[in-house]
This record gives sequence, C-alpha cells and structure tokens, in this order.
Amino acid sequence: MIKIKTKEEIEIMRESALIVSKTLGMLAKEVKPGVSTLYLDKLAEEFIRSQGAIPGFLGLYDFPNTLCVSPNDQVVHGIPNNKPLLEGDIVSIDCGSKKNGFYGDHAYTFAVGEISPETKKLLEVTRQSLYIGIREFKAGNRVGDVGFAIQKFTEEHGYGVVRELVGHGLGREMHEDPEMPNYGKRGRGKKFAEGMVVAIEPMTNLGTYKIRQHSDGWTITTLDNKPSAHFEHDVAIVNGKPALLSTFKYVHEALGIVTDEEDEFRQ
Ligand code: MG
Ligand code: MG
Repeated sequence: MIKIKTKEEIEIMRESALIVSKTLGMLAKEVKPGVSTLYLDKLAEEFIRSQGAIPGFLGLYDFPNTLCVSPNDQVVHGIPNNKPLLEGDIVSIDCGSKKNGFYGDHAYTFAVGEISPETKKLLEVTRQSLYIGIREFKAGNRVGDVGFAIQKFTEEHGYGVVRELVGHGLGREMHEDPEMPNYGKRGRGKKFAEGMVVAIEPMTNLGTYKIRQHSDGWTITTLDNKPSAHFEHDVAIVNGKPALLSTFKYVHEALGIVTDEEDEFRQ
C-alpha cells in the first residue's frame, strides 16, 4: 500500500534528505586516491549523528555500516573496507539517514582523481537519466512512465539498465511501496498522486545490464566487470509536480560543478 504524506511530513522528510545531501557534500571533498572507504564511512556516521539524525542503513536488514560504498564494477550495496581508492576509480556512495521518524536516501557516483572519458560519460548520462525520470514523477502519471523514460535515454547511449534493483517509496520505512524500476512501459503500473514520496535511483552499467551477487550476501557487481554508476534523489509530489527533497548542490559546490538541472524541481 502506498503511504501518502502530508505537507508537514514532507517538510520533515526534506530535513532528513538534506542531511544526506550535506553528508555527500562533505564526502565529496574527501574522495581521493589513497583514502579508504571505511574512513569515508566513519566520517559519514559522525556527520549524520552531529545533525541529530541516525544512519539509515546501519543495522537495516543487518547491513554493517553507514554507507554503501561501491567502487568500479560494484553496482550497489558495497561494504566499506580498508582498501584505498585508486586514481581513475569511480565510487558510488549511497547514504541513508533517519530523523524525526522519517528516512532520507541519496546516492552519487564520484570520480577518484582523473577518470577515463568513457567512464566520465557513464556518470554524466546516469545523472541526466535521473532527472529525466524525476520529470515523469507527477500526479496522473504511472510507475512505468518513469522507468520508460530512464530506460529509453540510457539504452540510447548503449548502456545497460540494471533490472534486479529498483527505486522505492520512502517515508517512515526505508523501502515502501511502490517499487520504482528504471525500466518499464509507458502508462503501466501504479498511478502517482499528490503526497507520494519516492527514491528514484538509476543504476547504469557501461556494458551488460546483467549483475552478479557475491557470497558476502551484499556486494553486487556487473557480470562483465565493467563500471556501473548510481545516482539517487528523494522526490515528493507537491502541487501535482515533482519536488526534490534531496539536492546535489553541496556535492557540486565541493566539486566545482555548475548546473541548473535541479532548478525545475525546486518548490
Ligand atoms: Mg540509496
Ligand atoms: Mg534507495
């Protein structure tokens, strides 16, 4: 069942989302060659707690850390470790928080130093696909409209859309109805309405869309070991239109990226 949020609840969720946005902004300055993902995890946990929130993933389904950190061919759900990041790596960082009973859930894929033009384009296209999906998240549209838009754009670039992992409703639970696949057919699936809040999160592979689950029960990599990117925003339907609760503003300030891509979703 889809849980509709009141205006007040959406404002509470905005606070949880902004905490994860600021966490990713803080991490953006720390992601560099030589840094371990476990170090990033510690920084994130300290920061989230300093904001009066608790890490959203720690202990959720028994996940052991604050961040899911997934370098290179890892798609999502990577467990932080002591291995240093290397020049030319990419690293997807997914971060959750919980404050006043509501979750934020937000992800960005970072370049570690200089990366190849091929990988740079994968990150660029995946981020763009996220906004293309968000544009379809409005009253009267359906789940399939978001998935269709993301899939079409992604596959036009020759990339693979991961099937097994999807976005989701967000609220007092990290994962609520509806599931939000990054593929689909126009006009299919559950209908969107005022007060719905979802996490939209394209996971895009440079090569095949197929993935492999590792024996640790968490780590997921691409089947062909080519890189994978992941970007995620929390979005509400307000006045019938998509309203971004999370923002990459802090990340982009840290990285010196100038873009107006979020402007149309500010309410
Ligand atoms: Mg997430
Ligand atoms: Mg999510």
